[in-house]
Amino acid sequence: MSSPCIISVAITGSLPRKENNPAVPISIAEQVESTHAAYEAGAALVHLHVRNDDQTPTSNPERFAQVQAGIARHCPGMIIQFSTGGRSGNGLERGGMLHLRPDMASLATGSCNFPSIIYMNPPDLILHLAEQMKTYAIKPEIEVFDLSMLYQALRLADEGMIPKPLHVQFVFGIKNCMPAVWQVLEFQVAELKRLMPEATWAAAGIGRHQLELNHWALKLNGHCRTGLEDNVRYDGSRLAASNAELVGRVAELCGQYDRHPASPSEARTLLRLRPAA
Ligand code: MG
Repeated sequence: MSSPCIISVAITGSLPRKENNPAVPISIAEQVESTHAAYEAGAALVHLHVRNDDQTPTSNPERFAQVQAGIARHCPGMIIQFSTGGRSGNGLERGGMLHLRPDMASLATGSCNFPSIIYMNPPDLILHLAEQMKTYAIKPEIEVFDLSMLYQALRLADEGMIPKPLHVQFVFGIKNCMPAVWQVLEFQVAELKRLMPEATWAAAGIGRHQLELNHWALKLNGHCRTGLEDNVRYDGSRLAASNAELVGRVAELCGQYDRHPASPSEARTLLRLRPAA
């Protein structure tokens, strides 16, 4: 029997919509609609950033609440994951919407360079966000942008700051950060399995590396992330039409690796999440 692959869709990142990414959903209605189409195409998890109407990234709880409610209504069971990433606020603001109790939230366990900024995650901020997630019973998705972040997450889990087992997202292909190298993924997965055999993981490739990482994760029995936050092109010759198109591509690939897209309830079981409200 084929094994399930949780397809995560990162529908909207932090960059403004321009002529090179016209399909990125911005308004609440667009975000809900885009998530719904991705859900129908096989995504079980949505990774969410929200924007103000003027497109600036925000961690405004009001905005998160509206998108969360719309997705819950139209996509029964889908796992909702809020981003606590650095571009939607400063410092403690980044966790200012966690009281809305999404199923999951992203948590980067270290700092690194991005193309033109330092992605700052100082130890006290990591602890603060982890504590908030604990308070509201939110499962963190550990964002590993660089090798040391994996070991910091394992340590925090040992110290009881993050619940076990971990769910880790390995992110590849950001300029100035971890390059998309097969052996690096293989090593990281081996380390995770050695140190926490019951952990789950996914991988994300940025830009032209997206499809490559989808293949690698399927092959290594991990889970996949796709979506317009990470990559706006379908291939070298054209832009992606929608988040659903990118999800559909992964759903189709699953067959090549004896995998199938996990349903939301299968995904909840794999990630040890509570059943949908
Ligand atoms: Mg993000």
